[in-house]
Amino acid sequence: MAWPNLVGHEVVWTRLQRCVSQGRLASTFLFVGPAGIGKRTVATRLAQALLCQNSTANELRACQTCAACQQVEARTHPDFINVAKPADRSYIPIELFIGDREHRMRAGLCHDISLKPYSGSRKVAIIDDADYLNQEGANCLLKTLEEPPGRSVIILIGTSPQRQLPTIRSRCQIVRFPPLTPEQTVQLLKELDWISDEHQARELATRAEGSLQRAKELLDDDLEQCVGTLLMQFSGPPQDSLELTKQISQFIDSAGKDAPARRARSRALLLTLVSLYRHTMRELAGVRLPRDRATEQFVGQAVQTFRAGPALLLPCLERCLEAIQQVDANANLATLTACWVDDLSQATIAAASEPQDR
Ligand SMILES: [Zn+2]
Repeated sequence: MAWPNLVGHEVVWTRLQRCVSQGRLASTFLFVGPAGIGKRTVATRLAQALLCQNSTANELRACQTCAACQQVEARTHPDFINVAKPADRSYIPIELFIGDREHRMRAGLCHDISLKPYSGSRKVAIIDDADYLNQEGANCLLKTLEEPPGRSVIILIGTSPQRQLPTIRSRCQIVRFPPLTPEQTVQLLKELDWISDEHQARELATRAEGSLQRAKELLDDDLEQCVGTLLMQFSGPPQDSLELTKQISQFIDSAGKDAPARRARSRALLLTLVSLYRHTMRELAGVRLPRDRATEQFVGQAVQTFRAGPALLLPCLERCLEAIQQVDANANLATLTACWVDDLSQATIAAASEPQDR
């Protein structure tokens, strides 16, 4: 997803600029924050600024027009390394760090970053999907993170520090990214030309909860009907979970064979439920947040179902978050859907039958 600018992350950028001007830029970063808010854009801009031919050593500025800036954008700069979890894998394979069996320690990020920079200045690496570094992958990386060669800079991108292995976390400077504000989301939706109508943009920004990736997933025209059925089912009490599983599977299948599109649909549904549960929890605790019409309609019903207390929503919320992780880790979607629909149905039935004064 190409972002037009650094909307929402000016504070982070200013801090990085200050570090560069004072000559104390860290060599390993861990960028953390919700998915789809612009961490990769900032990381790419940082890589551009560090390799830009029109920038001096004590400023952090990417001209975005020189060959180096354009090569980083296109992921073809010889001193820029980008590693990410392949779509069909559950983890980042170690081959991407230390080469395959035939080329052990002669290929991969750890090898490439140790080579002399072509441009003469430095190497910059971005490790996407750091949430999916397993122990083996992390072990390969430890030495490189501990003593990055020359003036190289490594940027890991994940969703939260807690999802990183302690050995990785302790070797990085953590940079936290906040979700986008509704105003910033509206601005980006318009700049990207995804939505031109002001009212629709505001409505979508509220639902997207600070994530442009979520906004994009919600723009799926076919989503609306499935979301309605889903929210009705889990604002409770739920009816026929087998029928719902069937409907959800059909909705996911209609995205075609493309795995990322199927996962996006699955994630969009689960995030809709996460939003319903969060709003219901807050409502039960007496806190009211701005919400879109679709959510509004069902929170009232969910408050009735879960009236015995907000704690009853916790297992449902955790189950959704766990399912989202499983979606991202490439689980079989048909099996996964059947499991979470069943678990949530049971939890909702149990919640609805709790006496109010426990
Ligand atoms: Zn440049």
